[in-house]
Amino acid sequence: MNERDSEALAALLALSGYEVVEDEAAADVILLNTCAVREAAEVKAIGKARHLLEHREETPQLKVGILGCMAQNRGRGLLKNLPGLDLIVGTQQIHHIPEMLDQLFAQRDTGKALVELSSEEGSQNAISRHTPGKKPCAFVSIMQGCNMRCAYCIVPKTRGRERCRPLADIVAECRALAASGTREVTLLGQIVTSYGRREMPVVGGKSPFVQLLEAVAAIAGIERIRFTSPHPRGFRRDLAEAFRDIPKLMPAVHLPVQSGSDRILKAMNRPYTAEKYLEIVAMLRDAVPDICISTDAIVGFPGETEEDFRATAELFEAVRFDMAYVFKYSPRPGSPLDAAADDVPEAVKETRCNALLDIMGRHSLARNQSYVGKVEKVLVEGPARRGEGRLMGHNPGARKVVFSGGADLVGKIVPVRIDSATVTTLEGSLQLPLPS
Ligand code: SF4
Repeated sequence: MNERDSEALAALLALSGYEVVEDEAAADVILLNTCAVREAAEVKAIGKARHLLEHREETPQLKVGILGCMAQNRGRGLLKNLPGLDLIVGTQQIHHIPEMLDQLFAQRDTGKALVELSSEEGSQNAISRHTPGKKPCAFVSIMQGCNMRCAYCIVPKTRGRERCRPLADIVAECRALAASGTREVTLLGQIVTSYGRREMPVVGGKSPFVQLLEAVAAIAGIERIRFTSPHPRGFRRDLAEAFRDIPKLMPAVHLPVQSGSDRILKAMNRPYTAEKYLEIVAMLRDAVPDICISTDAIVGFPGETEEDFRATAELFEAVRFDMAYVFKYSPRPGSPLDAAADDVPEAVKETRCNALLDIMGRHSLARNQSYVGKVEKVLVEGPARRGEGRLMGHNPGARKVVFSGGADLVGKIVPVRIDSATVTTLEGSLQLPLPS
């Protein structure tokens, strides 16, 4: 979501006459769009801002701003750590940055930071512009905020209450993207399964989110649709069947579980049980047997015992996740669990984290090896990071595929025979002739 917010801001700044430079040293403005979900991300952002401010004598005109969730959460408090910051802008005010920068450049250096943290009705609709140019894959923000209160999470505080964009606006944005060459859209929201539930009726048993998926699928030129993230609570049969019935909806779903222990799920304020989660997985596999499933899990949540952890490990074995983001619990000031004891020792968290990653790695490798010898349809996204003449894209199951080919293939969906696999990547060869 931050990546999408940053892109929308870059597009707005371009409209106001600003331009992106490749080299940081050539910039008059550096804006750090920050995350507050984990402590490590905050430490990194503060370190980066401090470095920029400490070297400002070399570039005295430079304006430095902090945006996003950490700005929202810490507000003016950031000035204690980072005196000399020029801008502190919260999550619902990012679209006002062009005017704020104009103001900063117009005024003589007062040494005072501009701070804007207020909430704004309709701000979710401001995340709609894209930087010009053809891009095979694009993110589309469909909603902002979250009404849940997961005990470890700071997002409801930093992003505010759930606010949805109108379906027609989202469809118009996707249509414009298709016209400029985008083939795949990923619909973004904190809980996409809640999309439109207050504004739109269920029609023919289909939730507003499924209606949105159908509307986006009807756009000529959009070939692939993905979304992130659904919440297990809102995952019903209509959505599982959408994977079966909407060919453009890719067979890969990110379904955060967080823990396999009902006791810990309850303490986390996650309103489902491990059994319910497994039922959703079964429902999805019933609709699409080879669907790829990824997840998020937290280890070392306060009070997590060996038995609780074993339940999570067992769930990992049972589901056979294709991919998992495993996090060691870190207390977030401002989250509902702010003051609770962080009572699982770091070394135990580390062991549990590695154990889950090992299970996931085994299953992910087995799945990736099952592609070897098969031909996968790959949407070519651009050059691979390493290797001259190598291209990178993803198969329908969201696995990264690397192969040799010409730059003219970027933006096309091409057949690639998979030759080898690692936990994270499939290597293959382009199958010629290409279908016309
Ligand atoms: S559902 Fe829970 S974890 Fe996800 S954004 Fe909302 S509060 Fe945070």
